[in-house]
Amino acid sequence: RIYLDHAAAMPVRPEVLSFGMGFSDGFAGNPSTLCREGLVAQEVLATAREKVAALVGASAPDSIIFTGGATESNNIAVRGTALRNRKAGNRIVVSAIEHISVLNPAKYLQKSGFSLTPAPVDRYGVIDLDALGAAVTPETVVTSVHYANNEIGTVEPIREVAAIVHDRGGLLHVDATDAAGRIPIDVERDGIDLLTLSGNQLGGPQGAGALYIRPGVRVQPVLVGGGQERGLRPGTEDVVGIACMGEAARLAKEEMPEESRRLAAIRDRLIAGITGLEEAYLTGHPTERLPHHASFRFSRIEGESIQLAMDLLGIAVATGSACTSRTLEASHVLLAIGLAHEEAHGSMIATFGRGNSVEEVPRIVGAVEETVKRLRAITPL
Ligand code: PMP
Repeated sequence: RIYLDHAAAMPVRPEVLSFGMGFSDGFAGNPSTLCREGLVAQEVLATAREKVAALVGASAPDSIIFTGGATESNNIAVRGTALRNRKAGNRIVVSAIEHISVLNPAKYLQKSGFSLTPAPVDRYGVIDLDALGAAVTPETVVTSVHYANNEIGTVEPIREVAAIVHDRGGLLHVDATDAAGRIPIDVERDGIDLLTLSGNQLGGPQGAGALYIRPGVRVQPVLVGGGQERGLRPGTEDVVGIACMGEAARLAKEEMPEESRRLAAIRDRLIAGITGLEEAYLTGHPTERLPHHASFRFSRIEGESIQLAMDLLGIAVATGSACTSRTLEASHVLLAIGLAHEEAHGSMIATFGRGNSVEEVPRIVGAVEETVKRLRAITPL
């Protein structure tokens, strides 16, 4: 089997798994208690915080809070920051192709009186900086633009975005779920105020995430309870999951240059092979894209049929974001880059990881060619 759905779920890295197994020997500390076991657990969290902070260039480890995943981080970043800073203004701006875990918190704020402006993107999914400049006003408290898109792989010009947002006195939240560990991120250099990270996308287990909050930025909790994670994410921390996320972040930082080059070679070979097929097109940016990400559309066929047919041939691909796949609606990302509804339905996404190699590319291209031909022969379109 060839697994090409790393954007939906990354296999936990064996090194991370054995690191996590180190906690199987009676480890039971709650980081909030003062007994020795609690202090050990606190140390475990502190180490993980340092490792995650180092991955994104955050100089103060305490600027990282741990959460239950990227969705939680996005909710705290968008809702928690907008609500806490409401006195400074009641406008928010999000790019049109954000993940639903940013879009839906933004819509929630809209219902409670915020004005929401979507920022458009071009046909490659790159944010339109002029339009962003017009959308962000001095009343805009939070602007959210992801580092890279999970459906089309496009990497955004975050430094330019930050300059625009800061020029108007606002805060910039960046969802780096898919970019972290794959391309260099530096919250200082990039001018990021809040940054979302997912443990699984770094090679750790699902159910752990983090949010970087620039020191001094005021945020209110979305979930209320105890004082864990500075009160911003109450509830006992998933200590082992977080420890594993930290270790995955450390490994990702260390191996990123070489691994990203290796993945980009697979990506480029696959893009060359598939765009050589009839009526097959790349989606997203041809060069400014994540190293592990290749995405396509095929005319006159449905992405779900491609996904199922490829699955039967032993290859796991995606057709959209896993988080919205049950709705069967056309992807808001593909519509926002200007595709017609029928074009947006014929999408296929391949995302690579450590288990993939460039030698697999001919088999993948062959399977896509066979699938597309067969489906077109039976399509009523
Ligand atoms: N943001 C982006 C850009 C994503 O790609 C995803 C997951 N695909 C999420 C947020 C949500 O992640 P989780 O389901 O782990 O909360």
